[in-house]
Amino acid sequence: MNRVCIFQAITLLMTAFSSTDAQKIERIEPPSWFTEMKEPSLQLMVYGKEIGSFNVVADYPDVRVTTLIKTENPNYLFVNLDISPQAHPGNVRLIFTRGKQNLTYDYPLLTHPAEVTRGFDASDVIYLLMPDRFANGDPSNDNIEGMIEKVNRSNPNGRHGGDLKGISDHIDYLKDLGVTGLWLNPFLENNQPSFSYHGYSITDLYRVDPRYGSNADFKNLVSKAHGMGLKLVMDMICNHIGSGHWWMKDLPSGDWIHQFDDFTRTNYRASTYMDPYSSERDAYLMEKGWFDRTMPDLNQSNPLVETYLTQNSLWWIAYFGIDGIRMDTYPYPEKNMMSRWAKRVTDEFPGFFIVGEVWYQQEALTAYWAYDRINSDGYRSNLPSITDFPLSLATHSAFTESDSWTDGLARFYLTLSQDFLYPDPFRNVIFLDNHDLPRFFTQTGMRLDIYRMALPFILTTRGIPQFYYGTEIVMEGDKSRGDGNLRKDFPGGWAGDSKNAFIGENLEGVQKEAYTFTKKLLNWRKESEVIHTGKLKHFIPENNLYVYFRYNNNESVMVILNNSEKESRTITREKYSESLKGFTKGVEIITGTEIEDITSFIISPKTAMIIELK
Ligand code: CA
Repeated sequence: MNRVCIFQAITLLMTAFSSTDAQKIERIEPPSWFTEMKEPSLQLMVYGKEIGSFNVVADYPDVRVTTLIKTENPNYLFVNLDISPQAHPGNVRLIFTRGKQNLTYDYPLLTHPAEVTRGFDASDVIYLLMPDRFANGDPSNDNIEGMIEKVNRSNPNGRHGGDLKGISDHIDYLKDLGVTGLWLNPFLENNQPSFSYHGYSITDLYRVDPRYGSNADFKNLVSKAHGMGLKLVMDMICNHIGSGHWWMKDLPSGDWIHQFDDFTRTNYRASTYMDPYSSERDAYLMEKGWFDRTMPDLNQSNPLVETYLTQNSLWWIAYFGIDGIRMDTYPYPEKNMMSRWAKRVTDEFPGFFIVGEVWYQQEALTAYWAYDRINSDGYRSNLPSITDFPLSLATHSAFTESDSWTDGLARFYLTLSQDFLYPDPFRNVIFLDNHDLPRFFTQTGMRLDIYRMALPFILTTRGIPQFYYGTEIVMEGDKSRGDGNLRKDFPGGWAGDSKNAFIGENLEGVQKEAYTFTKKLLNWRKESEVIHTGKLKHFIPENNLYVYFRYNNNESVMVILNNSEKESRTITREKYSESLKGFTKGVEIITGTEIEDITSFIISPKTAMIIELK
């Protein structure tokens, strides 16, 4: 323990024991704040027995208490502070008084992080992993006193023991694979009796679940990732909390969550937000119904809830230096609050990346939430990016169905032709699958030739690719067998695993082939500027053949997908002459083959070619 730690420990002890009677402050959230934030106001949620009947002043230069807000629950007090731009870092002494009773609390005001954001764009590929299922770096934290659910690796829906150390131990593997960022499924405390592994039932919004490690471990993980050139996306949820959240034992107010006489589920029909004919009943249930029995629905229309959630997001960004947020179930909370949330986050940290999960099958419904789009009803989401489910779902059928006016590769053509709906479709996050979808390999009949077409597509079309862990070794996952089946353990993440897929030499057969192919393509994409920033032009698919170009003033990459099961196709210059002008030959980057004459060449059946034109 160094001197600073000792000082902090003493300060904490002083804070905890500053009162001699039973009266105490149990929690103040956010637990710390920062100097020089663009927004000078800060609202503290103070929790403690009958704390609502106390008065509060701040004894600290350039910080003052402006107002106190009480709810019907006397155990809460909301303290509005004004932190002037001149305020220095230090412990802000808050003095709580009631009659002759006196409590003090030293509230940490930390130095503003000079540079927090690196942002994400189409030069990135984001590796999505579920912390419980990637690697168990520390078996000693598998079971923790006080955490209800214990480890049980034989239960697909149980906890398997993966943790932050497991991720940290394999950052070199991820860097080597060729991704540029990590998105971790949620890893905050989920002290729930079951299904706690997926992380979407948060019971403490300021604490890393101790079965994954500590807040300090997460900070170290972010630093290590940054040191190796990888960015980090944190998964957040504003829509709901876990039923085991400490609020549920003593709600700040009756309207903190949406409450019903009987359990009432959302109808999951997020089209009610933009549907001009939506019934009020449907819209009401969509927003206010609970996502699940164990996921109480927060009332974002309560301004105290809005401020709490917004400050919570800002705190994780500023304190840990994360590079992006993936916001779960973006259309489920009150949509105007979410728009203000996104604006506040990006105003405070310009360039900060947020991708909202907007899970629709249709392009138009997806685009309602897109960056910079102003809808006919005036709604603007302020989201920097959205998840492109329509394109993902197109990949699930395009390669396995017969070619027709609307099916087969025409799905890509038709989906992308609707990009006029998005002010900037190149910001869309695109993917073959994720933790909620059938794994692509399983969905398409476990055919490596299809994977060898689909990955080139997702890595060369417009957008920011997201890559689900284990895809590089074509892990299987069948949604009809439950979500746990989509989230199997990465082989080698646990001591004693029969295979260690973190070491390439251990792989064989299709896994080895898939891994080598994926690594090669990801590392090529990482250096290919024309894929990062170039324009897109595509040609109408015909006869199972889809051709498009990514190009700028100097470079051009030609991508060809031949989805025919048996027939080769001859590519002739005539049809693509407008895009081939000035080029005579090319290098196909998957095979490394030189194409000496681009006026006519052949592509084999069920094959993708990526040709750097010369
Ligand atoms: Ca563990």
